[in-house]
Amino acid sequence: MIGRWIVWTVFALAGGALGWWLASREGLAWGLLLGAAAWQLMDSFYARRLLNWLRSEQSNETPVLMTGSQPRLPGVWGEAADRVRRLLKNRHVQYRESQARLDEFLAALQASPNGVVLLDDEGRIEWCNQTAAQHFGFDARRDIQQHIANLVRDPAFSAYMAAANFSQEVQIPGNFSTAGRPVRLSVHVHRYGKDKKLLLSRDITALEQAEAMRRDFVANVSHEIRTPLTVVAGFIETLQNLPLKKPDRDRYLTLMAQQSQRMQTLVEDLLTLSRLEGSPLPGTHEWTSTTSLFAQCEQESRALSSVMSPQGHQLVFDAGPACDIAGIGRELGSALSNLVTNAVRYTPEAGLIRVTWTLLPDGRGSFCVRDSGPGIAAEHLPRLTERFYRVDRSRSRETGGTGLGLAIVKHVAQRHGAELQIESQVGQGSCFCIVFPAARVRRTLQPA
Ligand code: ADP
Repeated sequence: MIGRWIVWTVFALAGGALGWWLASREGLAWGLLLGAAAWQLMDSFYARRLLNWLRSEQSNETPVLMTGSQPRLPGVWGEAADRVRRLLKNRHVQYRESQARLDEFLAALQASPNGVVLLDDEGRIEWCNQTAAQHFGFDARRDIQQHIANLVRDPAFSAYMAAANFSQEVQIPGNFSTAGRPVRLSVHVHRYGKDKKLLLSRDITALEQAEAMRRDFVANVSHEIRTPLTVVAGFIETLQNLPLKKPDRDRYLTLMAQQSQRMQTLVEDLLTLSRLEGSPLPGTHEWTSTTSLFAQCEQESRALSSVMSPQGHQLVFDAGPACDIAGIGRELGSALSNLVTNAVRYTPEAGLIRVTWTLLPDGRGSFCVRDSGPGIAAEHLPRLTERFYRVDRSRSRETGGTGLGLAIVKHVAQRHGAELQIESQVGQGSCFCIVFPAARVRRTLQPA
């Protein structure tokens, strides 16, 4: 800086001395004229150097301001060049910082689980994230500047955009939505800036499915309870209004007891399901012995078999090697008893029911209930564990079924990391197995 002013002063003094000399030789007018011309020439030369440098900076994508390629200029020109360089350098740093912030902001929007689309005042896409591209089938690069109305052609969406009332969201089918695999999107537009729009899209397919399941469930439960309730209410009315003889009264009371038992079983099964859904997953600190589970199942199934048919069933229990299963005893007992009672309920009188516990070579343990009953057609197998799904509705009701037994079994199995396997053929009987992972099975020396 000081150096630059010294050079400038030396040049100025030299110019002054030259002017003095010329003035003394050629006269004052010539001296002044020549001095001014020399000064102008020098000034123009430095100004051009400065301008050339600024032009080269302008055309450079990455300014070299930082690299010190600034021309060496004396005096005021050097000072001006210095200040311009500092100014541009600051601007460049600010630009880089705001670019980094913008990149971070866009990365955050990319990470959003919702679709985000920025629309200009005419509804053209300015930017969209990958989720939105998937939701609507956009190409996040190619479709920039495309009008959204040309790309999303759902009538509900077009009406929503045309009405321009964005207080509510609109629901439309998503990209690739088919009748078999429906995809539902909830789309909400928010205004910002100068009539620009932020469009948010959310995949609500799972939510809608859950809501539909909830509606079905409530309808099913109401239906299941209404039937026995109507029967009981009808009998109560009859008993209240008609002078019945004792045998008739007893018959009615027996039927009422059966119906209230049916409601009670249904409520118990519903409570079991809700407990299973609400309680924490079973750890490996509680162990239940297969021997005690077998004893409980055998007792229950023999009692049920004798109640259901005078001749009963051929019940074979093969408890296999004594083991412990890591899991909640009450849940395991309920799952096994559901399988065994199903076998008893659906297998005709004198049929064979075989219950086994086997240790597989890889350490897993398999609890199987095989029966010689009517069997189940293949098309029903994938749906058997759905709540209230029944193959033979009347048989299920006749035998006190709720349609929730296998749903409970599947839930218990899943909670214990086990797998429910079902094999069945019409006329060939059925086999239901719960296969527990090796980590949840251990052999015991002493049967409990
Ligand atoms: P339910 O209370 O009606 O028995 P489940 O969930 O236990 O309900 O069983 C669902 C359906 O699967 C039953 O309605 C029945 O049609 C069929 N099912 C279950 N176990 C057997 C079996 N061992 N043999 C034949 N069908 C069976």
